[in-house]
Amino acid sequence: MKDNYDVVIVGAGIVGAALAVAVAKACSAIKIAVVEASPTLVEPSCKQFDPRVVALTKTSQHFLHAIGAWEGIKQQRHCPYRDMQVWDGEGNGHIHFDSRDQRTDALGHIVENSVALMAIHRQLSACTNIDLLRPQRVESFRRTDGEGIAVTLDCGVVVQASLLIAADGAESHIRKSAAFAMREWDYGHQAIVTTVRTEKSHRFTAWQRFMTTGPLAFLPLSDRGSEHHCSIVWSCENDLAKELMALNETDFCRRLGLAFEHKLGAIEWVDKRYSIGLRQRHAKHYVQNNIALVGDAAHTIHPLAGQGVNLGLFDAMALSEEISRAVQRQVPLHDLSILRRYQRRRLSDNLMMMAVMEAFKRLFGSRNLALHWLRNEGLRQVDNLSLLKKIIVKYALK
Ligand SMILES: Cc1cc2nc3c(=O)[nH]c(=O)nc-3n(C[C@H](O)[C@H](O)[C@H](O)COP(=O)(O)OP(=O)(O)OC[C@H]3O[C@@H](n4cnc5c(N)ncnc54)[C@H](O)[C@@H]3O)c2cc1C
Repeated sequence: MKDNYDVVIVGAGIVGAALAVAVAKACSAIKIAVVEASPTLVEPSCKQFDPRVVALTKTSQHFLHAIGAWEGIKQQRHCPYRDMQVWDGEGNGHIHFDSRDQRTDALGHIVENSVALMAIHRQLSACTNIDLLRPQRVESFRRTDGEGIAVTLDCGVVVQASLLIAADGAESHIRKSAAFAMREWDYGHQAIVTTVRTEKSHRFTAWQRFMTTGPLAFLPLSDRGSEHHCSIVWSCENDLAKELMALNETDFCRRLGLAFEHKLGAIEWVDKRYSIGLRQRHAKHYVQNNIALVGDAAHTIHPLAGQGVNLGLFDAMALSEEISRAVQRQVPLHDLSILRRYQRRRLSDNLMMMAVMEAFKRLFGSRNLALHWLRNEGLRQVDNLSLLKKIIVKYALK
């Protein structure tokens, strides 16, 4: 059996699903297939917070608003963060970002993955020009003479399209099968993620303490006005992560409180912990004839600045704009110039963000005394320069 589409998107995570909705809404004549391996969406729970959250920047929020998903997020659950406190755990360097200095109500929003996904998928289901094929996996694909691509699913159905977009995450099957060259290395770090309840209010602040073993972030969560839950991302060297994962809940709370210098008082409760291996990956190119990579399929970055999904959503925004520009100008979608324009817009930006994060990780991970002085002095200087802080917020938290 054969089905014809203009675009096939593999992966209906936050990035793939948002891209599908953006293209479908901008170009009603385009037919899109979204192939997703997992059988169902995880419903956000009203009793507990999802352990996976994302810190969405203003630009990501505007994009989600434009595709109609922000309203759904607002109705379910989200938490604005108005301040950000970052400090060096091994010294006295400290920097504080305040949304009032930026003349804005929030620097960004913490949103649970399941809440964001559900809101985007509601929009996706309402688009009559999208077929969501789930649970399905791509078995193979081959370029056809007619300038398109034929994608065979594991159920035997062959889907024909002009463009195949890989949004299938960090272990992207499409990226590997199409032999995209990568730069990648293991950080030797695990990220422990979970939800905690703290004695004191989080004051709608995102907190990050840098230690030589890795950064520890407390991201505020809010439900019906409560201000005592945070999602934590504790990135640390593999051996330490193993030790922390093996602790019982009481001992873990005690260690976490110590590592966080008790900024929010005692850690009163911890949910189930998950440990995720961290790897830096970046594809050398994002496009080939008929194929484009977006989101984690193209790049994964250390979670220390919470930028992963934001970079993916910027990819989705840029690619959807290029597709709709091509449609308006009647350029056929298999034309490589469309994908090259997308790559030009995104590759260098992503590379720059990854380089900055890598520099941060190395600077704060170093036990070298000169670097120790430099980072503390640097943080103090930046904290005193309001113009520089405004620039950092504009570019790093855009
Ligand atoms: C510990 C941790 C903390 C993080 N914190 C933040 C943060 O605060 N802010 C932030 O912006 N980012 C954060 N990130 C990064 C963020 O979670 C990812 O960048 C983001 O989830 C990537 O979205 P995606 O849609 O590209 O990929 P995914 O979410 O991985 O989605 C891929 C989808 O493709 C599907 N799929 C996979 N293979 C196939 C296949 N063969 N066929 C069909 N479907 C397939 C999967 O089922 C999935 O639905 C964090 C990451 C980690 C590890």
